Amino acid sequence: MDVVLFGPPGAGKGTQAKRLVDKLGVPQISTGDMMRAEKASGTPLGKRFDEYMSAGKLVPDELVLELVEQRLKQPDAREGAIFDGYPRTVPQAEALDRMLERLGRRIARVVAIEVPLPELIERTVGRRSCEACGHIYHLRYSPPPSPDRCGNCGGRLVQRKDDTEGVVRTRYEEYRAKTEPLLGYYGKKGLVRTVDGIGSLDEVGERIEAAVSGE
Ligand code: AMP
Repeated sequence: MDVVLFGPPGAGKGTQAKRLVDKLGVPQISTGDMMRAEKASGTPLGKRFDEYMSAGKLVPDELVLELVEQRLKQPDAREGAIFDGYPRTVPQAEALDRMLERLGRRIARVVAIEVPLPELIERTVGRRSCEACGHIYHLRYSPPPSPDRCGNCGGRLVQRKDDTEGVVRTRYEEYRAKTEPLLGYYGKKGLVRTVDGIGSLDEVGERIEAAVSGE
């Protein structure tokens, strides 16, 4: 099953995608995580990604498509995927449709997580993630046992460079201008279900599961 988790930065797409992985038995495909990994390995491509990411701007479509195309070829993604932070533009959505069609697949559901801007800023600015295992914490809402160590694996907790208020505002503007129009693209296909992203992780997770499995 192929599902798109849709929403502004800080809506909880990454956290909820990780929870859905076990339920649906398909991997999470996060272009943001893939770009951060590329950057961490210090490649020229990673440096190009970072120019856009640290400014809160979207990475150009042609650089993103190649990443996703390669990822979809890996065996764990044979039965489907949970797309998190991809697609972010209409050309990316069209490209994804074409890639899936070649594999005899199509998007089954687009779950749009709604969260208002002041809450998005609070969530992103307080977010910390584990360098080693990727677990996501929030200093107030789901605090780690110690402020700089992961409770899962003991790895170091870091704040993303683009999780400062100024950059989050730019990311939100990019979302409104370039990503939100996708709701029209997928809406016409009847694929969109909207869920309230305010609530505990479990509450929001249950709403998402219902939206994925419901008619
Ligand atoms: P995320 O981890 O999904 O919040 O993405 C962090 C940043 O990575 C974004 O602000 C963009 O700069 C870049 N990025 C991630 N996914 C995409 C995408 N599908 N298209 C363009 N830029 C992306």
